[in-house]
Amino acid sequence: MPEIREITAERILSPTQLAPADYTINPYRGCQFGCLYCYAQWNKAARKSERRWGQYVDVKINAAELLAKELQGVDGGTVMIGSTTETYQPLEAKYNLTRAVLEKLADSAMSVILLTRSDLVVRDIDILKRIQNVLICYTLNTTDNTVIRAFEPRSPLVEQRLAALRKLHENGIPVYLHVGPCLPELTDPLKLMSAVDGIVHRVDFENLNLKMVSWTALLSVLHRHFPHLIDMYERIYRDKETFVSYWDELRQRIDAVRGQFQFDTNIRFHPFDSYFAP
Ligand code: SF4
Repeated sequence: MPEIREITAERILSPTQLAPADYTINPYRGCQFGCLYCYAQWNKAARKSERRWGQYVDVKINAAELLAKELQGVDGGTVMIGSTTETYQPLEAKYNLTRAVLEKLADSAMSVILLTRSDLVVRDIDILKRIQNVLICYTLNTTDNTVIRAFEPRSPLVEQRLAALRKLHENGIPVYLHVGPCLPELTDPLKLMSAVDGIVHRVDFENLNLKMVSWTALLSVLHRHFPHLIDMYERIYRDKETFVSYWDELRQRIDAVRGQFQFDTNIRFHPFDSYFAP
């Protein structure tokens, strides 16, 4: 069980360089889902914490009141919710902080980008509809629940996430699907594209970035669940030529079929040299 602490935040609307956002809001610090490849575990606050990522959540119980005050000095702009936490982790069902934050934003001139991989987001469709400019960036990187459970011990499974995407679509809420990280052999882009056709506006692909996951932790998951892939991962992430040809080939497979689907696609494969050597 993660350690849960209620805290009083000093600030909630933080200026950011994360384009296209001007501000970020994170109603929680830490995350119950504990995904292996979570980029938030490497941010300054998380690295300073002695607690293990996925094993703690600080609940900013004054988030909405603070936001109401801070919005008074702001004319507009774009706010990204959930840049370093899961806005709809299970605790949100109890604390309703994301909901309260959205309520304040619905009464403001702010545009909202909300990042999530949780199906709990559908609970707040009523408020999302009231926000003038809203976009949900929803993460799903596989159609295989075995893969989800290997890398994301407590996140919602495929069926729950697809059902949430459908419900958002039925209610006219625009959604970008973030297929990230694409895991060699474990992410099947074509299956994912077929699964979300007609219910998302765009699909973004991002390859597994070794800056976001410790090589040792990755190897340990592969050992436990997919030992037959260890050699392949070693080759891809240790040899530039193999790396380039693997991701080029995947890009070509996506390019070959993207015209068959109703959504736009965006492929963001980081180059080999942007990785830490394993
Ligand atoms: S749900 Fe998001 S914030 Fe939470 S552990 Fe996973 S990637 Fe990190």
